[in-house]
Amino acid sequence: MFRKYPIEKTRDIGIIAHIDAGKTTVSERILFYTGVSHKIGEVHDGEAIMDWMEQEKERGITITSATTTCFWTLAGNEYRINIIDTPGHIDFTVEVQRSLRVLDGAVVVFDGVAGVEPQSETVWHQADKFKVPRICFINKMDRIGACFEKSLASIQEKLSSNAVAVQLPIGQEAEFEGVIDLLEMKANRFEGDFGQNMKIIPIDEDYLEGAGISKELLEKAKQSREKLVEKIIAEDQDLLEKHLDGQKPSVNELKNGLRKACLAYKLIPIFCGSALKNKGIHLLLDGIIEYLPSPIDMPAIKGFDPKKGLEIERKADDKQAFSALIFKIASDPYVGTLTYFRVYSGCLAKGSYVLNSTTGNKERIGRILRMHAAEREDVEQVFTGDIAATVGLKASSTGHTLCDEKEPIVLEKIVFPEPVIAIRIEPKTKQDQEKMGTALKRLMDEDPTFRVKSDLETGETIISGMGELHLEIITDRMKREFKVGANVGRPQVAYKETIKIESKAEGKYIKQSGGRGQYGHVLLRIEPKARGEGYEFIDEIKGGDIPKEFIPAVNKGIKEAMDKGILAGYPVVDISATLYDGSFHEVDSSEIAFKIAGSIAFQEAVKKAEPIILEPMMKLEVVMPDVFFGDVIGDLSARRGKIEETFDRLQMKVINAKVPLAEMFGYATNLRSLTEGRGIFTMEFNSYEEAPANIIQEIIEGKRR
Ligand code: GDP
Repeated sequence: MFRKYPIEKTRDIGIIAHIDAGKTTVSERILFYTGVSHKIGEVHDGEAIMDWMEQEKERGITITSATTTCFWTLAGNEYRINIIDTPGHIDFTVEVQRSLRVLDGAVVVFDGVAGVEPQSETVWHQADKFKVPRICFINKMDRIGACFEKSLASIQEKLSSNAVAVQLPIGQEAEFEGVIDLLEMKANRFEGDFGQNMKIIPIDEDYLEGAGISKELLEKAKQSREKLVEKIIAEDQDLLEKHLDGQKPSVNELKNGLRKACLAYKLIPIFCGSALKNKGIHLLLDGIIEYLPSPIDMPAIKGFDPKKGLEIERKADDKQAFSALIFKIASDPYVGTLTYFRVYSGCLAKGSYVLNSTTGNKERIGRILRMHAAEREDVEQVFTGDIAATVGLKASSTGHTLCDEKEPIVLEKIVFPEPVIAIRIEPKTKQDQEKMGTALKRLMDEDPTFRVKSDLETGETIISGMGELHLEIITDRMKREFKVGANVGRPQVAYKETIKIESKAEGKYIKQSGGRGQYGHVLLRIEPKARGEGYEFIDEIKGGDIPKEFIPAVNKGIKEAMDKGILAGYPVVDISATLYDGSFHEVDSSEIAFKIAGSIAFQEAVKKAEPIILEPMMKLEVVMPDVFFGDVIGDLSARRGKIEETFDRLQMKVINAKVPLAEMFGYATNLRSLTEGRGIFTMEFNSYEEAPANIIQEIIEGKRR
């Protein structure tokens, strides 16, 4: 087997945007232009576009699927573009992170009227964190109020001063007719009802009329080009030297320079258009090829050797040992569970075995599928840089590494934030109970930030997740897709318990009245650990004071007590427990006796160790007009918020604060009424922190359930 598309002709990209900026429409148009016809010129009438749109709507799957592969020809070369879906809502930051991790470059879509919106910032900063090179598309240039210059300025001001226009619109709002390519100095005019017929006209002084642009616009284009060229030259040593020698760089040299600067996050090319009116998409596709990285442009992926724990690297090369990262699990009505992965090194043929180095299990790759706009394709083999899916893996989930078993590597693990909100759900009938189990398991497989637990005492099921909306979507899917009838409780904060000081306690479970008795006796010392370090069990028993076979039972007893909680029924976290002494009885000792003794000792020890309750704290950003500033601040203080920073952004005030999640239910409605609908906020999990004493008291008394 050999690869059809050289690795340098592959692009693994994502399209990211604020909700409503037009991500779906841009994706649709990209699939249209790359699927139906490789060149826009071949589409002669708008009907084909309309037809395609209708069909897409009916199918509805392709655009929202985890990945889509499409093809685009530039300068006679065909490229393969894998588009990885990135979710749009802030509640799913983990999903955003996961997808940002496996893509090499991104197109960030903005609304040409609204410019940079708060959530675009959140996603942008995450893309920075994962060092994702990107280009921007200012969409909706046809809308009333659209303004390229303002949008560009807001990107430069709020997101990155490295943003630089590579295009200028010809006309705006209803008059938006085309774009000027500043490097080529050509006018691209879109004609026909759908803008599908494109004319490319070189522009210079003599040809203004043919290009349909005014003298002023030409002047502006010249100035913008100068700025662009200056910025490219400043980032490129060779071009700088040539420039100092008085030589003019060619268009190709400039494009190469811009590509290098874009890959190094030094410059961010800005495009514009109207996805809805089919304007500017093909130039955006050219831009994806020209300025976004291929897998070999990215640094080698780092991971660690699961046996030795040492850091190792894999280069993007078919000849290296196979390694891939699973980034999404989805259930498909036709083929079952689809496991999506990205290949970082080597190749994988169907029918072979791989190691899941995260779990240590072997898995057989029965089928390999590649997803296209219209259909899925069974392939024999995948190569470095490919994005594909396999079916039927049972023990592999999101974030796991698949690799060659002879050369194991665990690719940097994705850390999932803790779920902070919980809801009780109760099936309506016995039948629903069974269906609910299956449904929740499926949903959990797809989404590792979502957890299911049953309350041992009440028998109820508790699901927890990243936010109100996250759980709302899950319960809604459970009802609609899996037809489970259930009563859903009110969302509750996922508190945790821990201790502040060290303590010791004894646990005895002894029954010796007639027949075979029970005998378990342990001495425990517990100590607080740092936030997030979890639980550790240390065995310090010497000389067989407690026989080896009973020690795991003590640990088990402690874990059960931790799960149940001591103060108010919330799980205990961040504790180390040392078993340092105890005794046993030749006949009466048993695992169960030691388990109970362990549990008793632990509960006693916690009570003596200044137990506290931890509550999830959220990072909040609120943006509002100046006049509402005082009211919003006052309201946040009443919600126990700690204001960390306030500043101006354009005409708006921005507040950054840390707030307890418990005080934030229904905040959206509240903020709306405080600010006459003009305030916006974003919120994400920050940390678990000690709740104030009076709040702890209320939680214990059940007033905060
Ligand atoms: P998403 O939420 O980012 O996926 O955004 P959509 O693609 O669903 O678009 C949101 C709304 O904006 C829809 O009503 C689209 O029809 C509209 N829209 C998308 N692109 C354009 C555009 O270029 N011009 C105009 N006027 N509307 C657009």
